[in-house]
Amino acid sequence: MARTDSERLFAEALTRFPGGVNSPVRAFRPVGGTPPVIVRGNGATVWDADGTAYTDLICAWGAMLLGHARPAVVEAVQRAAADGLHFGANSERELELARIIQSALPSVERLRLVNSGTEAAMSAVRLARAFTGRSLVVKFDGGYHGHADGLLARAGSGLAAAGLPDSVGVTAGAVTDTAVLPYNDADAVTSFFQQRGNDIAAVLVEPVAANMGVVPPGPAFLPALRRLTTAAGALLIFDEVITGFRVGWKGAQGRYGVTPDLTCLGKIIGGGLPVGAYGGRRDLMECVAPLGPMYQAGTMAGNPVVMAAGTATLQAIDGTVDYDRLEGLGAELEAGLLEVASERSRPVQINRVGSLLTVFFTDSSVTDRESAERSDRAQFRAFFHGMLERGILLPPSNLEAWFLSLAHTESDIERVIGAARSALAMAPQAAHVH
Ligand SMILES: *Cc1c(COP(=O)(O)O)cnc(C)c1O
Repeated sequence: MARTDSERLFAEALTRFPGGVNSPVRAFRPVGGTPPVIVRGNGATVWDADGTAYTDLICAWGAMLLGHARPAVVEAVQRAAADGLHFGANSERELELARIIQSALPSVERLRLVNSGTEAAMSAVRLARAFTGRSLVVKFDGGYHGHADGLLARAGSGLAAAGLPDSVGVTAGAVTDTAVLPYNDADAVTSFFQQRGNDIAAVLVEPVAANMGVVPPGPAFLPALRRLTTAAGALLIFDEVITGFRVGWKGAQGRYGVTPDLTCLGKIIGGGLPVGAYGGRRDLMECVAPLGPMYQAGTMAGNPVVMAAGTATLQAIDGTVDYDRLEGLGAELEAGLLEVASERSRPVQINRVGSLLTVFFTDSSVTDRESAERSDRAQFRAFFHGMLERGILLPPSNLEAWFLSLAHTESDIERVIGAARSALAMAPQAAHVH
């Protein structure tokens, strides 16, 4: 298919933005080739500058739970914009969004709205250190919590794909108080707590890891984190920037029945506009300025247009009915892909939690970063381009989650499976000797 306008626009972007992009994973580095320049979206479909349509499985990295340009959200944004874009003062629209978030997540007794998931995680960690008077924060290998300096230690797909274990420009000092342990390894966390328990301010975790590809928590993992942190006087922070309002109305904390002290949110709660939030126990949140000594602020925080988009998005979700539907669509996609892979004698592992899914090109199960890295990149690269040629836009890395939305239909799922059937027929097998 012709990609001339996308090629032209991306060529200009290369002269203006580093790598042609404003966020690294958009550059297609792990898969090669030129990313389509997207001009429009509707429902589960996006169109590039050449008029080519794609079934979208990126969905703004999960933010578009309702799909693109849902009329109720567009209208809410238009109404809010007509009232003025921002005031830097309180507005009722902040309350509307907060009421919904707090009704879904009872652990969020108080919250603070910020502009990105990065800010949410950075602030939650600052708060944990402020409250406990301790420095050390435990995160997990492959867990991504935004790009705050102290959290850029073994931080997931964007960095793994770029071949950067860390970022240059982050000082050794900035990460000395960050300890990195293997995901899903409760024993490693237990022995770390035995050694350093009194120094640990918090454990920060994606309760379903989704930035090394999707890696669900084993049954004992989150309960162990809860138990160990409580016993040591440390805090448990769930980074639900992806999982919040995606793996269920009550997030991962509801789905797995483990209650964190602090929760980070983002993506879906902004309905596609820039947002983040952190919140949790009232006694903790009362350390935040102006009530307490932990400083954190934002000129654009609580922006009324963003609040309107987030509120309209969350209001459009029909609780259990919609999460059951996402579960059904996800299950259908998983089953179809497994069948197609088996027809083509292609060993794959599919990890899925509801509408979050990753196909790993490996024959062994994926439970942490190290096993995720076994997913064969060359096979994924060929598969990715085969899918793109057939009008399916996948996240451009073998270590990313695919995202379904409520705008996806059974026929979209069938289209994806059909495309996979022929893309896998074309893609080269890995050079693999058993
Ligand atoms: C996307 C993401 C972030 C960062 O959010 P931004 O809005 O990109 O700053 C943090 N944590 C997790 C789990 C994420 O997936």
